[in-house]
Amino acid sequence: MDTPRIQDDLYEHVNGEWLSKAVIPDDKPCAGGFSELAREGEELLMKEFRELAASGNLDDANMKKAVSLYRLCLDEKRRAEDGISPAQDMLDTIDSLKDIDDLNAHLVQFVEEGYPLPFKMTVETDFKDSSSYGIALWGAPVFLPDSNYYKDEMAEQKKQLMPLFVGMAEKLLAKTKLSEADQALYIKDALAFDELIAKYVKSQEEWADYVAAYNPIHKEKAAAFFKPVDLTGLLGVLFPIPFENVIFTEPRYFEHFSEVFNEETFTLYKHWAYLSALIDVSSTLTEEMRDIGSSFGRALSGVAVMPSLEKQSYNLASFFFSDVIGLYYGRKFFGEAAKKDITELVQSIIEAWKDRVRKNAFLSDSTKDKAILKLGTMKLKLAYPDKTDALYDTLVVDESLTLFKNCQRLKKAKKIDELKKFGTKVDHSKWDMPGHMVNACYNPASNDITFPAAILQAPFYSIKQTRSENLGGIGCVIAHEISHAFDNNGAQFDENGNLNNWWTDEDMANFKAQTLAMVEQFDGIELPWGKVNGEFIVSENIADNGGMAASLQVMHGMKDADYKAFFMNWGRIWCQKAKVEYDKLLLSIDVHAPHVLRANITPRNFNEWYTAFDVKESDKMYLPPEKRVVIW
Ligand SMILES: [Zn+2]
Repeated sequence: MDTPRIQDDLYEHVNGEWLSKAVIPDDKPCAGGFSELAREGEELLMKEFRELAASGNLDDANMKKAVSLYRLCLDEKRRAEDGISPAQDMLDTIDSLKDIDDLNAHLVQFVEEGYPLPFKMTVETDFKDSSSYGIALWGAPVFLPDSNYYKDEMAEQKKQLMPLFVGMAEKLLAKTKLSEADQALYIKDALAFDELIAKYVKSQEEWADYVAAYNPIHKEKAAAFFKPVDLTGLLGVLFPIPFENVIFTEPRYFEHFSEVFNEETFTLYKHWAYLSALIDVSSTLTEEMRDIGSSFGRALSGVAVMPSLEKQSYNLASFFFSDVIGLYYGRKFFGEAAKKDITELVQSIIEAWKDRVRKNAFLSDSTKDKAILKLGTMKLKLAYPDKTDALYDTLVVDESLTLFKNCQRLKKAKKIDELKKFGTKVDHSKWDMPGHMVNACYNPASNDITFPAAILQAPFYSIKQTRSENLGGIGCVIAHEISHAFDNNGAQFDENGNLNNWWTDEDMANFKAQTLAMVEQFDGIELPWGKVNGEFIVSENIADNGGMAASLQVMHGMKDADYKAFFMNWGRIWCQKAKVEYDKLLLSIDVHAPHVLRANITPRNFNEWYTAFDVKESDKMYLPPEKRVVIW
């Protein structure tokens, strides 16, 4: 295929050659951009682990534990000999539950060990008072990727996917001591319970509204919804201090809780819990069970084979010791010069944001002042933290025990540590992402942005790239994250991370009117793998738009600004080749627009795009001035 002109298709113009040649690894759903960096980081750290495991030379006590876990996972022979037996106690505990009273007697154990319950309990930063923690209660997970799949309009997809799930369940249960008749019964019951849950839990679209998840309710009132589950007893043991409220993240689910879980559905629950628990732990049993247990998830993304044993061993260590590995990675692979350079870049983008807020046409002065205060107090978490959580010092990996047992102990220790936080002050210096993660985020409850070292690499960022290229890459991404402080969710939190509306009604109405134009810009676009839902992805598109606006603003102040390089690098960072199943899955569960649209739609809203490449009305990436949208 000939390379299209940049004026017609920026994405294909800069990535076409790579896309035509790239091969998606068998064990990955996609290649390119973010995933390429993630894959390279994985390779780099796997090499480190290989060497560390062989030499045993390690002063860092916590890395030593991570390496021990890695070694345990690598020992497939030992795991094959053990078979399913390490998990037998857990399965028996679930299987021998007699009735709801019996479950009530086991509740504390189930919460601490992470055994499946018809609800989930976590300790989270309290939205109304970000210095303290709240107890959050959630619904249970469903088998398919989202509760929307259970609605009539997705019946076709469900019909295709459910048999794949059942196939996995049959193969896994065949490894247990259940009789064949029981295996079939357990699956039938589990599916019936899954349907009950799916009726009331939220969809991804509903989760996109953070504030709607904050519903404080007096613990006695909550306990009444929970009956016959003894919530009062559970809270009393786990949180032996005075408090009044818990938080329902899914009120609809708890309003119908007694319909989902009662004496009649108890057996359905039990068989659902048995199957769910087995799927959860399958990767820590034999290699065959890891293959079976991951088959459904892989089918959803079109991934043919599971990650190699070595990759799995590294990934498991990385899952339990993420901050430890992140710190190791940051220290070893990220220089101080780059940290200084990136800090300056972020500060210049925050200044550009302040400037744009000051000049904003639809906000009142009082709202502008508060927005500028929020920008001025925003905390920056760049590259990697200087220390890891004290929790890691208390974790133990014992190579004389099975991999399963070690993972259960680590999981439990982490859960108990989380539960114990209730009643203490929130430590906002903690990072939401480890240094080796290729991602970035804004946390409204802390008013901070996190940019791990692993995303601070080419094509996003490099000290060797020009500043214009860096601004088209990481600059836009940084400004994107900052804009989340002012999107439909972030706008409801103040500079201290407290839920506290600082917008006037009129400003909010103006903002909402602007967002409609953004919904329209994307809604209904047809891609080879499906149609785009503009409403579902609007927050992220506004963030891309605001991100580009602020990053371009920094360019305006530069003597050597190269707008061509800026837009070309923007096109490059979204480069991705994915399995079609994965593209389809993302369309229904990801709040971001498909990469090709992120690359090609956002620039059309900015004058700089038209002047940089002399884009004319006859070009495909031309948008008439009246249709261009710039919100921030
Ligand atoms: Zn975002």
